[in-house]
Amino acid sequence: MMRSVRFHQHGGADVLRYEDVPEPELAPGEVLVRVRACALNHLDLWQRRGMPHVPIPLPHISGSDVAGEVVAALAPEVPVGRRVMLQPGVSCGRCTACLAGRDNECPQYEVLGYRNYPGGYAEFVKVPVQNLIPIPDGIDFVQAAAFPLTFVTAWHMLITKAQVKKGDDVLVLAAGSGVGQAAIQIAFLQGARVFATAGSDDKLERAKALGAYEVIHHHKQDIADEIKRLTNKRGVDVVIEHVGEATWPKSVRSLARGGRLVTCGATTGTKGGLDLAALFSKQLTIYGSYMGTKSELLRAARYFFTGQLKPVIDRTFPLAEAAAAQQRLEESGQFGKIVLEV
Ligand SMILES: [Zn+2]
Repeated sequence: MMRSVRFHQHGGADVLRYEDVPEPELAPGEVLVRVRACALNHLDLWQRRGMPHVPIPLPHISGSDVAGEVVAALAPEVPVGRRVMLQPGVSCGRCTACLAGRDNECPQYEVLGYRNYPGGYAEFVKVPVQNLIPIPDGIDFVQAAAFPLTFVTAWHMLITKAQVKKGDDVLVLAAGSGVGQAAIQIAFLQGARVFATAGSDDKLERAKALGAYEVIHHHKQDIADEIKRLTNKRGVDVVIEHVGEATWPKSVRSLARGGRLVTCGATTGTKGGLDLAALFSKQLTIYGSYMGTKSELLRAARYFFTGQLKPVIDRTFPLAEAAAAQQRLEESGQFGKIVLEV
């Protein structure tokens, strides 16, 4: 048996139960990892609350961002004891999308800890061997767990979809969120000029420390008006959206002619209108983006391992306090990643 945190029904954070469950059983090609740290994502909250069109087999163990040690493998040449972080995306490896390197478009694409793959809110987790990424000694488990999902998501949005380059102006919404802190760093690394929003002065200071050139207080200032003022009425080339209804019209209005908007989420609601006249006359492009590819995560990890990208840790909780950790994420008080230590 192993300790885990599961929910048996959908609801608030109080449905999370700290309890013993059987250890995962390995199938050929799979690896058992002793979880040392597991970072939280908004995905954990959505699945716990329940989504009308996404059935989650219950009881369920959440947790998509995992770091730990290999303890057993039904696969050749996997050294037991190896320190690793896990690719959160699981795909078939055989379809045209997978073989073209676009594994996040695989019809069988799954995310660890989402639906059919029990996740890292537990002492042990199993994954396909191709999901292991060895980590160097200088990277601790908490940092490693905080990296994969948000950085691969932000990388896919900025580098692959929007093709951000030196000289671009980029607006990143919600700098304190997981995607926000990752997107600021990746855009800065690309040589872009970064504008970031947040809901407190403290968060705005921290966004600047990460590389934001100008910051906007989204409770006190109108995002689009500020962007127009800061860019001499031009607007930005790229907007990184994941807030949804609360910011969508302002995000569209912040775009320069030829601008690209990339969205990977809608934490405040999924309804977003669009003025078609603005779309064609300003020649805008809108991209939907979901996770990222294994190849992109490996590329991003090079910069992580050399210290050029650093996941920001908000705070850690012991596994038994997963409910308190999720409440902190729900209240949006955090700057950076909230991580469970196991
Ligand atoms: Zn596939």
